[in-house]
Amino acid sequence: MKLKKQVTVCGAAIFCVAVFSLYLMLDRVQHDPARHQSGGNFPRVSGSGTQGLGSWAVALSPPSTALGPALTARGERPLLSAPACSLQHTWSLGWQMLAVASVLPFDNQDGGVWKQGFDITYEPHEWDTEPLQVFVVPHSHNDPGWIKTFEKYYADQTQHILNSMVLKLQEDPRRRFIWSEISFFSKWWDNISTQKRAAVRRLVGSGQLEMVTGGWVMPDEANSHYFAMIDQLIEGHQWLEKNIGVTPRSGWAVDPFGHSATMPYLLRRANLTSMLIQRVHYAIKKHFAATHSLEFMWRQTWDPDSSTDIFCHMMPFYSYDVPHTCGPDPKICCQFDFKRLPGGRINCPWKVPPRAITEANVAERAHLLLDQYRKKSKLFLSKVLLVPLGDDFRYDKPQEWDAQFLNYQRLFDFLNAHPSLHVQAQFGTLSDYFDALSKRTGIVPGMKPPGFPVLSGDFFSYADREDHYWTGYYTSRPFYKSLDRVLEAHLR
Ligand SMILES: [Zn+2]
Repeated sequence: MKLKKQVTVCGAAIFCVAVFSLYLMLDRVQHDPARHQSGGNFPRVSGSGTQGLGSWAVALSPPSTALGPALTARGERPLLSAPACSLQHTWSLGWQMLAVASVLPFDNQDGGVWKQGFDITYEPHEWDTEPLQVFVVPHSHNDPGWIKTFEKYYADQTQHILNSMVLKLQEDPRRRFIWSEISFFSKWWDNISTQKRAAVRRLVGSGQLEMVTGGWVMPDEANSHYFAMIDQLIEGHQWLEKNIGVTPRSGWAVDPFGHSATMPYLLRRANLTSMLIQRVHYAIKKHFAATHSLEFMWRQTWDPDSSTDIFCHMMPFYSYDVPHTCGPDPKICCQFDFKRLPGGRINCPWKVPPRAITEANVAERAHLLLDQYRKKSKLFLSKVLLVPLGDDFRYDKPQEWDAQFLNYQRLFDFLNAHPSLHVQAQFGTLSDYFDALSKRTGIVPGMKPPGFPVLSGDFFSYADREDHYWTGYYTSRPFYKSLDRVLEAHLR
């Protein structure tokens, strides 16, 4: 009787140990991505958490050379600036976003004038052998429904923006403009004369006006079903083909709240060769700025070769408005938003207003702006620089077109007339920028420029400052989201 009891207790103990070991084994497999995705290209960020943080801190210090961290034999950038031995075998795979997010401290340190970044310095002679080429890209972001309805936005602003665009672009062939929301464009098209339509076709044909992305809207990339994303892209592209005879080449997504890896796949399949994104977590932006990786080939995680790659430009600063696009210091950049000239309806929150460019101040103003351009350029691998010039529903009055285009042209004329500055500045479209970048790096547009990194993964979740995470909208309004899916299924 006693022996039987002992055997039972012993058996139970062995059973418990076996179950617990099995549990530990399964748990380990589940939390070890390298095992979980056996044979896949999932990153193996080796070492402890502290080692990861340490190497990240190295990566974040302002780079000392023009090319930043050393390139690998295959010309690609390391996953982290960590000791070579621990990460060497992952380098050829490039940046993996899950790995990047897992090692960043998200500590939100004060970066000075570029609050979410770091100090940028340069040597004045850095552009002596290869001049800085600047493309200022005028744009107007038109939400098809936000504070106002689609119809109200169209009536109050969008129709005036597009009407002025036709007139103002024709006044000077050096002027450029980009447009992305075809829902608004088609509504306007229905209301304009045949002469005006012909003028628009001429502007597109001459390269002064570029239709970017060319979707019906600039879609949300977090909540939407991929079929809805495809559907709106087809709608816009078919409209452009039928009415203007053009196929978009470059993607422009400045306002989706985070960026999905589905979008680059769809754009590439729609024959676009380059794209731009803006709303990326500020800590991620800082990391990519510090490692000269703001421009990369965006690759699908499941794609072992490069057939779905698309070239992507990530904007480095806080916003797509003028104060956050000329360079790291918004107090300076705001002075070059000529819609904010004194006497207007909006001003500069940094308390230094813009000044109209005159013969007397052009030299001083041009040097101040060039300093910002040079600092921004230090974050990128090439000496071609993209400077968006616009904001929400901008250029809705003829005076704004004149204020921006005339003042900037005076600045460009000054900069270009002084060879000692080693800069060539002009208005450009998004594709003008990507084309110039391809030319400088010696590749066909859409191919991987030598030395540029590869990246896989997505840019969720998004925070634009401190702990302001834009994730509440993932779960809000479930009724409308459900209704939307049901309607989509019928359309299909
Ligand atoms: Zn928007």
